[in-house]
Amino acid sequence: MTAVCTALVVGGGIAGPVTAMALRRAGIEATVYEGHPSAADGAGVTLTLAPNGLAALRAVDAEQAVREVGLPMRRTVITDGRGGLIGTLPHVAVEPVTVGLWRDDLARALRERAEAQGVPIVHGKRLVDAESTTDGVLARFGDGSTATADLLIGADGIRSRVRTLIDPAAPDPQVLPLLNLGGAARYAVPDADPEAMYLVFGSRGFFGYWVEPDGRTAWFANVPDPRPTTWAEANQTPPDQWLHRLREVYADDVPAHQVLAHTDAADVVAIGSIESMPSVPHWYRDRMVLVGDAVHAPSPSSGQGASLAVESAVQLARCLRDHPDLPAALTAYERLRRPRVEKVVRRGRQTTSTKTAGPVAKRMMRIMMPLALRTFLNPERSLGAEQRYRIDWDAPVSAELAQH
Ligand SMILES: Cc1cc2nc3c(=O)[nH]c(=O)nc-3n(C[C@H](O)[C@H](O)[C@H](O)COP(=O)(O)OP(=O)(O)OC[C@H]3O[C@@H](n4cnc5c(N)ncnc54)[C@H](O)[C@@H]3O)c2cc1C
Repeated sequence: MTAVCTALVVGGGIAGPVTAMALRRAGIEATVYEGHPSAADGAGVTLTLAPNGLAALRAVDAEQAVREVGLPMRRTVITDGRGGLIGTLPHVAVEPVTVGLWRDDLARALRERAEAQGVPIVHGKRLVDAESTTDGVLARFGDGSTATADLLIGADGIRSRVRTLIDPAAPDPQVLPLLNLGGAARYAVPDADPEAMYLVFGSRGFFGYWVEPDGRTAWFANVPDPRPTTWAEANQTPPDQWLHRLREVYADDVPAHQVLAHTDAADVVAIGSIESMPSVPHWYRDRMVLVGDAVHAPSPSSGQGASLAVESAVQLARCLRDHPDLPAALTAYERLRRPRVEKVVRRGRQTTSTKTAGPVAKRMMRIMMPLALRTFLNPERSLGAEQRYRIDWDAPVSAELAQH
């Protein structure tokens, strides 16, 4: 196979624009094709970018733009629903510090950086089919148009179409028994530390929040619910009904109760069941390859979904830069990424299970947690290596592979 000179990147969320920027740096021309008819600003709630994700953005000159729309988070404060402090965890002592931000601000910042670097982003192009040919790949979109390139990269999220084109038997996302909702309240939780993320193990649900500089409280709620609910299904329920349900679930919990009392229904976003990807057997086939949630979506509890997506985007571009032979490049990419991302996915699943603990387990957790936080759950010990991972863009990939 000849070297890759052009690429189609399917999906203009988080991984897509970063992949295209990194490819340009590797000398590959890339165009992003996004299914939404327009930039999907306003979609989603909050997420975090970990130090490793921010550092990876340096390789595409996008770290600063993202930090400007995020809030530094230096510690996590864990409480029970009665306001009792379970523990305060300083974050891993590493620069850059984790930032908390709205998903649409992150997507917008990345899109603007990509466009400023000359990446074309075309909206309203939903990929429906693709086929590898001997000298390229042909993509077909829902509007009847087509595009060709040397390589097609699926950055099309957890319900990836490209994943099933690579392998029709690829696994579906695993649904975890928690509903995920979020929003913003016209209310600042009193005395909240502006650089802390708060996690509340409430009596019937898990609640997270931070206070924004404008005096609003950004929050998310994880409510146990065994029924799988997709994003589309969750959005069939009107926001005022979700808000009503949340106010019931958190009626006894502080400050969730107060935060929800000051939230307008219009500001409630239903995301559906929490999902994560099980191990995907085939990351690539012929001239198609996956990045981001399409191949390694950890549960949001990992705090690493966006960060891993960004890392994979940069690593894929490095592998294509250093291996003119496409199969060798894609093999190198999978070898570099699979062990790391699957470890994080496993950790995310374990963290999520603490949110679904029954009443007895919950009581035990409250008793054991202070000790656990000082020992095996201590962020330095449990997250240090994960967050100190750095990609050296200039170093040859072969040197990194030699360590694997
Ligand atoms: C609208 C939206 C809101 C989100 N909100 C949150 C949130 O609040 N909190 C959180 O932690 N995570 C959220 N996520 C997930 C989060 O963005 C990802 O976990 C992570 O950042 C990895 O990004 P990604 O680019 O791999 O996937 P995504 O961010 O999911 O991006 C995938 C992109 O591909 C596009 N796409 C999908 N199928 C096709 C197709 N066939 N053709 C063309 N384009 C396609 C989608 O429209 C999307 O823009 C959200 C994702 C989306 C799409």
